[in-house]
Amino acid sequence: MRIAAMPMLLPPGTATPSLAGMAPTSATIARPHDHAHHHGAALAEAAQAALEARGEQWTALRASVFDVLRRLERPASAYDVTEQLSTVQGRRVAANSVYRILDLFVASNLAQRIESANAYIANPHPGCRHDCMFLVCDRCGQATHVDDDAVTGRVREAAQRAGFLPERPVIEVHGQCAECSAATPV
Ligand SMILES: [Zn+2]
Ligand SMILES: [Zn+2]
Ligand SMILES: [Zn+2]
Repeated sequence: MRIAAMPMLLPPGTATPSLAGMAPTSATIARPHDHAHHHGAALAEAAQAALEARGEQWTALRASVFDVLRRLERPASAYDVTEQLSTVQGRRVAANSVYRILDLFVASNLAQRIESANAYIANPHPGCRHDCMFLVCDRCGQATHVDDDAVTGRVREAAQRAGFLPERPVIEVHGQCAECSAATPV
């Protein structure tokens, strides 16, 4: 005589099993916060606050480099940032100084380096860190900044499943921006 396997039923009122062991890791999910993109003078203030919170000084030269970055319409090379800064200052600014400041800004979340374009742009949210993604237009050079922690969290999880310790996902999508694709009939 066979005994049919019975589905396990919990009697009414029984507590559901604990989900504690299935909780997502805090490393992959950003804490809820007021995510704001700053512009203009408010962006410079937010950048200064973020830099000073790291114990770094907001020097006149650093402020000027940031001003150039935040006025850019599209990411610019370190060389172009140096050229623009020299024009604004009316004197030659040493490229090495600018490069060091750009490195500091990237490390401090004040600026981002678009790796595939070898270019820099101000970070509109210097106060909070995300794995920012960029949509890079191959026609006009615009880089659209996209934050989606769900997407980048999946990338980090995939890396961790492969036994890899992900430090910085770089997600840059090349193509055509809305303006350029609208201007070019298919
Ligand atoms: Zn944020
Ligand atoms: Zn971002
Ligand atoms: Zn474009």
